Amino acid sequence: MKILFYDIRDFELDFLLEKIPNNIEPYFFKTLLDKNTYIDTKYQDAEALSVFVSSQLDSEILSKFKKLKYIFLRCVGFSNVDLNYCKEHSIHVFNTPNYGNSTVAEYVFALILTLGKKIIKAKTSLQNADSDAVELMGIELLGKTMGVIGAGAIGRKVINIAHGFGMNVLVYDIQKKGAYNFVSLDELLEKSDFVSINCPLTEQTYHLINKETISKMKKTAFLINVARGEVVDTKALYMALMYKKIQAAALDVVECEQLLCSNWNKCSNTQDLKYICLKKYFFIEKLMRLENIIITPHNAYNTKEANERILNMTLENINSSFDINSGTKNLVLI
Ligand code: NAD
Repeated sequence: MKILFYDIRDFELDFLLEKIPNNIEPYFFKTLLDKNTYIDTKYQDAEALSVFVSSQLDSEILSKFKKLKYIFLRCVGFSNVDLNYCKEHSIHVFNTPNYGNSTVAEYVFALILTLGKKIIKAKTSLQNADSDAVELMGIELLGKTMGVIGAGAIGRKVINIAHGFGMNVLVYDIQKKGAYNFVSLDELLEKSDFVSINCPLTEQTYHLINKETISKMKKTAFLINVARGEVVDTKALYMALMYKKIQAAALDVVECEQLLCSNWNKCSNTQDLKYICLKKYFFIEKLMRLENIIITPHNAYNTKEANERILNMTLENINSSFDINSGTKNLVLI
């Protein structure tokens, strides 16, 4: 089977070259895959693609691969794949669920503690020899209320850690699985000191956090988003932080996050995105300059251990695709 691996980083290349089965014909590309990626005709007969979350597999790009049978996502989310197209063309889509539930949940608390304990300010104030105990006064988690939006695989880990810190936990989810303190979204926003977004991006969750929902939050509240940028209306968040409607925010994901990639040339769709995302980017740039926010580049999943789990699971998915009818796991779409 001919598989094209996109968005490949050096450590992934070493790992895959060592472990990939002999019956696979792999081709590795450092660029992401989207409709603007140049695909030489000699690769267009590939039967499989493997991409990371930053690639955009819409119908335009997928239709270039006439023999495509499998997509091996090296991530959990699949909002970057046109599943309708895949269904119509009998393309099996695999993902790597649960590779990093604790990984991402730990990051939620890394962000909360960094903001709440003013760690970055403490470091720079010491470097500048102007530390001031009043300016550096932080807050505690013990006894505070954590509101979790989406008690799925990651959200449940967030809840466990929150309990470990001695926090009260409120949960809003469209499903009520598990013995949690489920409340309405309004109640969660009104009562929480920390709101952690852990739901997927769907039509229902697009801009779930907007001007109106933010207005229900405590003025002292912290908003943490490690899910998908589009769940939060960037402009509304900027206004809320500027005018102190909430205290602080930490975002590992932002709207149009492809524009923030460190190597501009890697963003092959930069021109398109610039046009679509210009207004959002204007506010993201403004947000980044505020003191009461931390923005990181979609990094919550990024540990050595989690990356190894992703690669191992991708290899398992590839192996199980040879026998698709015998109870294959991790299929987003059968
Ligand atoms: P999951 O599917 O296990 O859980 C999602 C939960 O959200 C489910 O309980 C679901 O019922 C709930 N939900 C769905 N729609 C909702 C709505 N409208 N309102 C409230 N709750 C809703 O997913 P997961 O593995 O916990 O991952 C959650 C998200 O985290 C992913 O979709 C992905 O976007 C994001 N993620 C980010 C990173 C990162 O590095 N920042 C890494 C992995 C995943």
